[in-house]
Amino acid sequence: MRILIVDDDHFQRALLEMVVKKTGYEVVTAQDGAIAWKMMEEERFRMVITDWLMEGMDGIELIKRIRAADWPGYTYTLLITAREGRASIIDGLRSGADDYLAKPFDEDELLARIAIGERVLKLEDKLVEQAQRDALTGLFNRRALYDHVRREMHRSARNGLSLGLIMADIDHFKNINDTWGHISGDRVLVHLAGIMREATRAYDHIGRWGGEEFLILLPESDYEKTRIVAERIRSSVEVSPAVAINGQEVHLTVSLGFGSFVPGREVQEIEPMISAVDDALYQAKASGRNQACATRAREN
Ligand code: GH3
Ligand code: MG
Ligand code: MG
Repeated sequence: MRILIVDDDHFQRALLEMVVKKTGYEVVTAQDGAIAWKMMEEERFRMVITDWLMEGMDGIELIKRIRAADWPGYTYTLLITAREGRASIIDGLRSGADDYLAKPFDEDELLARIAIGERVLKLEDKLVEQAQRDALTGLFNRRALYDHVRREMHRSARNGLSLGLIMADIDHFKNINDTWGHISGDRVLVHLAGIMREATRAYDHIGRWGGEEFLILLPESDYEKTRIVAERIRSSVEVSPAVAINGQEVHLTVSLGFGSFVPGREVQEIEPMISAVDDALYQAKASGRNQACATRAREN
């Protein structure tokens, strides 16, 4: 994390910088509110420690702007003030400051207050992470998958490398639930998630697209690489049974649709790619299940 320190007094700024550096975080400084605001627009510092009274844009105005900007991530703000009195502290907090510190500040108090900010930001990290995950399997959820697809499409469009996509669906999963019960069905989903993790690279994105449907995103993967991964998943699932709650083996198979795309050249939107692998998956189901089918563009 990088912390932004804003103070128009050179000595005060240097002192703050020296103390805050003890947290181990990187420190960036600005001489006034206007400069700080410009820097914030370039880089969203997650924590800002700002003086109140400054020429031009003061600390209160800076904090108000940060709050009004409503950026996706939270900015924790700590206001340092020489102002006395309860009313001005209330003013500062009302304007959006998370905390305040009176000047001349006590070093340990500053560090303790920064630690409060760290706790808040860690909590935010945790919530963001949780919001991206499917609770059962720990894989990305559908919303997070959309974000990853979007990001990888942009990256592919820049580097010209193809993006592999695999849609997988458990065969006759309804029967598995009916035979073994819903809780064992859940275990099967977790088991499959593990197989998919093993079959892919660390920088591939695996997510739960729907109930027993999974989407895998393989950056920098051409048709052949994608086909190999799809086939690896299929064969691995076939030979590795899950375990039901009664300890018995649950044999299962999956059907997969896969393809590779060059975003920016072949496709512009997410939906056509998804429906292409979805159609291929349907093809795999219609052709007898337990197989991986390529998108139609590849067959011709
Ligand atoms: P197909 O081979 O055509 O894919 O058949 P299927 O039975 O797998 O497909 P269908 O769509 O008919 O049934 C999907 C089943 O998946 C029905 C639903 O109850 C079950 N399911 C969806 N989400 C969960 C879940 O989180 N846990 C469990 N145990 N079952 C789930
Ligand atoms: Mg199914
Ligand atoms: Mg299904």
